[in-house]
Amino acid sequence: MYKMEQVCLEYRRRGKTVNALQDANLEICDGDYLSIVGPSGSGKSTLLLTLGGMLTPTKGRVMAGSESLYDLAPVKRAQLRREKIGFVFQTFNLIPYLTALENVQVPLLLAGASEARQQERAKQLLERLGLSDRLDHKPGELSVGQQQRVALARMLANEPSLILADEPTGNLDPDTGKEVLSFLEQLNAEGRTVVIVTHDHAAAERAKKRLRLENGFVHPVEKGNI
Ligand code: ADP
Ligand code: MG
Repeated sequence: MYKMEQVCLEYRRRGKTVNALQDANLEICDGDYLSIVGPSGSGKSTLLLTLGGMLTPTKGRVMAGSESLYDLAPVKRAQLRREKIGFVFQTFNLIPYLTALENVQVPLLLAGASEARQQERAKQLLERLGLSDRLDHKPGELSVGQQQRVALARMLANEPSLILADEPTGNLDPDTGKEVLSFLEQLNAEGRTVVIVTHDHAAAERAKKRLRLENGFVHPVEKGNI
């Protein structure tokens, strides 16, 4: 169970303040598939980073089970993030000079797995994503859809129970986007909790629960009425 309680996030830049999240309340139960839809600039990436332990709120709390994420020591917070949370970035954030296999190995390396174990697990994951014939390709030698699949494999490396996806279809053509959504649905069917933020209403509509974000405020929505 994850919760945001009265979370505010203010960015301050050159004397100007942006209220990117305003009293955001959110509850995510284990096994949920939640979408949060909102236009560009509504605070989607900010919300996901805050929920994922990567951006400290100005006010309010983020609860991961019984732990208050931002009251944990940074080392503990990083550990919780590594063990429980998988993040899918809009721009994939693959390391350009590493191969697909090595990119997927990174989180396993950070978790202390042996080189042999890293390779074995990374191969398995890339196979699951249909990329067994692209292990030695670098991101620049892969199509955009393939890069997203490497990013998904890397995200799965440490078996996250919570998956946070920032516009996972934003940079993809419609068919590849649909593949990514069905993959996220499969991961949810396996029991993982999935949260996606998106400006794509069709993608948002496929989730089990939906919320709308507008100017940093979170609102509920009814199905078919995004
Ligand atoms: P979205 O992902 O929905 O497009 P963001 O969460 O990226 O929205 O941004 C929400 C608001 O906060 C926007 O108005 C954006 O300009 C502002 N913002 C985002 N990141 C920063 C930052 N690092 N510094 C200052 N303002 C920011
Ligand atoms: Mg964004």
